[in-house]
Amino acid sequence: MPPHLDTEELRQRARAAFVGMAIGDALGATVEFMTASEIAAKYGVFREIIGGGWLRLKPGQVTDDTEMALCIARAVVKTGGWSREAIAREFAAWLKSRPVDCGDTCRRGIRSFMLHGTLDAPYNEWDGGNGAVMRMLPPALLSFPDGGLLKKYALEQARLTHNQVQSDAACLCIGSMLHLILQGASKNRLRKEVDALVAGHQQFGFDPYRKLATAYVADTLATVFHYFFRGRDFEECLVGTVNQGGDADTTGAICGMLAGSYYGIDGIPKRWLKKLDRQLLSELEQLAVHLVDASPDGS
Ligand code: MN
Ligand code: MN
Repeated sequence: MPPHLDTEELRQRARAAFVGMAIGDALGATVEFMTASEIAAKYGVFREIIGGGWLRLKPGQVTDDTEMALCIARAVVKTGGWSREAIAREFAAWLKSRPVDCGDTCRRGIRSFMLHGTLDAPYNEWDGGNGAVMRMLPPALLSFPDGGLLKKYALEQARLTHNQVQSDAACLCIGSMLHLILQGASKNRLRKEVDALVAGHQQFGFDPYRKLATAYVADTLATVFHYFFRGRDFEECLVGTVNQGGDADTTGAICGMLAGSYYGIDGIPKRWLKKLDRQLLSELEQLAVHLVDASPDGS
């Protein structure tokens, strides 16, 4: 067990994870669905938050990846604890607000809750998208450092929209990695966690890297792992990840939560931080602190 972090350092890493996620989303969204060679031809190396992309975003604007994580965190604050009904209601209100983007599997799950009150999506082998794993940060923070609670929260939030074996494995692995980072784990230790995932589910193999960054959860995580483990700082991890293209806002958001919590808030380039909306930034930081303070570790 790594040395225990004090409350302030834990809060700081939680804030950096939330902010890192939003930065990765805002950065990657510009090049979402482009190929790596299209990005290279247009930008050389793409490294600035400029908005645009297929969603025609404002610079710094975030998408469904950040917004669905915010829904979970807001539901926890509103109800004073974990409630999948409350999360489903937040998702429903968000979908009604006509968000800039929403994945097909997520939309189907939320509609099913709105029409029938469904909280458990039926198993579907084809629902292996990354929509459940992209919102793993709030459940990881709220359950810290309890592995049993992490599993319960991870799968309950996933089931609102996703019920698929690789999606579940991905949620649990990213959740465990976040717990380890919050305990101060090294990349060598994190690599063992990923090696265990790959041993059980070879689809997640990233060494050799297949250069696929699709929305299929195994391709998404392979890209995140490849660039997270190679990168020497937050910027290098994120730039590598999003320049792979494909589902770049989602690979960016997931890499951003890992690298954000790993390198801390001071590791996030100031020029990127400045692009985020002030109000969004302050809400992200408040929610992050609320979640870790309400976790078994904080309470
Ligand atoms: Mn998105
Ligand atoms: Mn995406």
